[in-house]
Amino acid sequence: MAKPSLILISVLICPHCGLASEERMSTDTCQFFYECLHCYTLLKPKSGDCCVFCSYGSVPYPPKQFKGTSDHCC
Ligand SMILES: [Zn+2]
Repeated sequence: MAKPSLILISVLICPHCGLASEERMSTDTCQFFYECLHCYTLLKPKSGDCCVFCSYGSVPYPPKQFKGTSDHCC
């Protein structure tokens, strides 16, 4: 069986200006803050989420992909 490949590039959508930017995710640390490259808004996870990729990313945070659940990533 093929090893499931992790997607490490997530497209973050800024909720303020709508800018989409590709960001590389780390597999072992959560990114709590993200500064938008366009409007410089400091993004924080929505309540209930633990990293900005969970809240604004196009793909789940890598540990979540491993588990295959909707659990929080950390
Ligand atoms: Zn923005």
